Amino acid sequence: MLRRAKRAVVFTGAGISTESGIPDFRSPGGIWTKMMPIYFDEFVRSAEARKESWRRRFEMEGTWKTVKPNAGHNAVAELVRRGIASHVITQNIDNLHQDSGVPEEKVIELHGNTRYAKCLDCGDRMEIADIRTWFEKEGEPPDCPACGGVVKTATISFGQAMPELEMDRANRATLGCDLFLVLGSSLVVYPAAGFPLLAKRSGAKLAIVNREPTEQDDFADLVLHTEIGPTMSSALRFVN
Ligand SMILES: [Zn+2]
Repeated sequence: MLRRAKRAVVFTGAGISTESGIPDFRSPGGIWTKMMPIYFDEFVRSAEARKESWRRRFEMEGTWKTVKPNAGHNAVAELVRRGIASHVITQNIDNLHQDSGVPEEKVIELHGNTRYAKCLDCGDRMEIADIRTWFEKEGEPPDCPACGGVVKTATISFGQAMPELEMDRANRATLGCDLFLVLGSSLVVYPAAGFPLLAKRSGAKLAIVNREPTEQDDFADLVLHTEIGPTMSSALRFVN
């Protein structure tokens, strides 16, 4: 299928990054089954919720700073480099596609990125390390230096609206593809999980590689319940 594809879209979920040692937040035993998620409106409303949210984020910094792309990410980067894949749509917030060499403009992050922060009002970027330094001194996160707005990791939280620009880019990439390749997503979180069906309805082939069965296996042209790294590495050998 990859050999025939002229314009594939790769869609990735937590499963591709668990192979790098990043926990799947939503799976049984994942962080969200042990800790109550902080919803977006609570974050905006409550200084206490903001502090707690930042404390949790700083606790994860050791993980985020040391994780590396794995064979699965590298295979995806290679598909992009060879011009087989036009875009990578991801539900992940870990920046590992960019770290593996996929150009920024080809990565579409549906749930944002936890490796930096943004002002919720003016959108200005802030670095996590700077926020941490401030937090450790002041006991609370800084307001936006530009406009005084609330600063949050550049992720999409529970209860937060999907990013319009990214949703629009993902829609266009999906409608333009001839192969939609899902790697490591159980396809249960909407609206992200709507893209495979959109691709299928617009005439693309649908292939799914995921360790566990997914909600959309029945609609796919190919389903592999395997590890992503080894599967994609060997698939690459058949593609020019
Ligand atoms: Zn601002």
